[in-house]
Amino acid sequence: MAVKTHCPYCALQCGMEIGAGLAITPRTDVPANASGALCQKGWTAGELLTNGTRLTTPLLHGEAVAWDVALDYVADRLSAIRAEHGPDAVAVFGGGGLTNEKAYALGKFARVALGTSQIDYNGRFCMSSAAAASIRAFGMDRGMPFPVTDLAEADVVLLAGGNVAETMPPFVRHLEDARLIVIDPRRTQTARRAWLHLQPTPGTDLALALGLLHLAIADDLVDEEYVAARTTGFDDVRTSASAWWPERVERVTGVPVHRMRQAVRALAAAGNAYVLTGRGAEQHAKGTDTVTAFINLALALGLPGTQGSGYGCLTGQGNGQGGREHGQKADQLPGYRKIDDPAAREHVAGVWGIPADDLPGPGRSAYELLDALGRPDGPRALLLFGSNPIVSAPDSERVAARIGDLDLLVACDIVMSETAVLADVVLPVTQWAEETGTMTNLEGRVLLRRRAVAPPPQVRSDLDVIAGLAARLGHRFASDPAEVFDELRRASAGGPADYSGITYERIAAGPGVFWPCPQDGHPGTPRPFLDAFATPDGRARFVAVQHRPPAEEPDDDYPVYLSTGRVLAQYQSGAQTRRIAPLVEAAPEPYVELHPDLAARLDIAPGDVVRVSSRRGETKVVARISDSIRRDTVFMPFHWEGANRLTNPALDPTSRMPEFKVCAVRVERIS
Ligand code: SF4
Repeated sequence: MAVKTHCPYCALQCGMEIGAGLAITPRTDVPANASGALCQKGWTAGELLTNGTRLTTPLLHGEAVAWDVALDYVADRLSAIRAEHGPDAVAVFGGGGLTNEKAYALGKFARVALGTSQIDYNGRFCMSSAAAASIRAFGMDRGMPFPVTDLAEADVVLLAGGNVAETMPPFVRHLEDARLIVIDPRRTQTARRAWLHLQPTPGTDLALALGLLHLAIADDLVDEEYVAARTTGFDDVRTSASAWWPERVERVTGVPVHRMRQAVRALAAAGNAYVLTGRGAEQHAKGTDTVTAFINLALALGLPGTQGSGYGCLTGQGNGQGGREHGQKADQLPGYRKIDDPAAREHVAGVWGIPADDLPGPGRSAYELLDALGRPDGPRALLLFGSNPIVSAPDSERVAARIGDLDLLVACDIVMSETAVLADVVLPVTQWAEETGTMTNLEGRVLLRRRAVAPPPQVRSDLDVIAGLAARLGHRFASDPAEVFDELRRASAGGPADYSGITYERIAAGPGVFWPCPQDGHPGTPRPFLDAFATPDGRARFVAVQHRPPAEEPDDDYPVYLSTGRVLAQYQSGAQTRRIAPLVEAAPEPYVELHPDLAARLDIAPGDVVRVSSRRGETKVVARISDSIRRDTVFMPFHWEGANRLTNPALDPTSRMPEFKVCAVRVERIS
């Protein structure tokens, strides 16, 4: 019989059924893709389960061993490293694709069984700046704080730095009736569908948002009644935006004033309008301030927390939302609580049965953690779950060198990723349709992925791995997903992301449950800000921000901007999708995209192999020529090793998001 579940990939979490022969059929009872749409990745997801390159047995220094041998070895080495160097000598790195249960168990494992503060996850690289901006403005981050189906009623949608036509195609169905305004340095597939495309210089989105706000104020488009009733802090923002007059913004961004005016007037005139941000606006060393500037614009126009309008962040990874709620983030405890909040520590420690004083404090953020590995004051051992930082981290050669200095690397994965290859111990784990667990999609809707097929005999769930290691370190951890979820519910109770009223049965009975859902029988909260924001006074907070240049600008040595992003047929570090034949056929290799004028200047023809280099490293790729990109910018997809050898690890001071989206490079023809 066909089993109802959800896609293994992105945060839209399209519904699908797995039938006989692993045939995939779209579900129409899941609002995200009720149209029956899936993208190429979803249609081919069954092939992941039977892929010939699956890991099927534990490996110790490359040799197949029994599970007990592998887990005994890891536990003994962890104990020895902790005894010699202290608990923070052991680090844990999680992933935004892990189920809520795994994210929760991993955070508890790090803090209780290992006693380390050194845990973070790859979601830090994804939308942490938007999360920080939402918490700053609204008191809470729930990604898109409204059902995705609300977008169908929108008259205008401003999409800053998101290419949904390639990253999550079924999402586009929800935008079909809206005038779409896209902000992107490239004329992406999404920008081609737009009513208006604003094509700023990379790294200047913040200035553009300030310019749009300036125009809204100058042209008397501010919703003064909303601002007075539902917000605080507008006077400071009004003052700071006054310095960003349109002609100045045009000089900084390259976007003509009349286009900016067109955009802001359309937004203000719309009955229903949304401002959405994606990685293009967020993955910057000023990402939190950039998203804040777009939230300020949305607040000035009276959008957030109203029926039919709003602001939302387009979370990327499958459980990017849930992954940041349950404690695998360096600064958080389950329920999306701050780890330095005494009341949160008391509550969670109580659920975990330990004194609150025994809970470690906040640890290093993802890049800082990776960059500390093997250093005298850094971790000596790293446990990696569902992440491939050799491909996905910025300045990745530096990260590879740090990983090479570790005393112990343990990788739990489904395939031999570029990072798992370096591991002392590789533990083969179950994947999406082989296990039951919950995922929280980009709307904050908690969904149930059901087990549909048995895993290969020697493959175990990450929850089994965590429980097995915890037992060897003297702690009892549940490994049954339902039991773990039950504990997660109790740990999250009273926090912003309160799951206490959510059960597997309730999720299964309908199209999922929105958090917060604070008690049994509570209907869930699809639109949490309709009555009040989650701030102490219930008002949204304007926060004054100023534009600043990228951490690195082009110069004589590295004369063009590099921007990175995704393509339709690949996903994240490509560890999964680069093994699926139809996806490889559709997107076989990395490339660099150049404007024809830049290509002519560099004597580069389509198909030439070129060297792309930055101050941090270099890579060789094939050149593609396209007039969809600015003349001063080149683009590379990041699904293959290489693009992130070039990217800049400059960090956003608030969220610790690296500057993936802009750095300076040189491109040279080598054949
Ligand atoms: Fe899967 Fe995302 Fe594609 Fe939907 S859009 S099928 S969730 S990868």
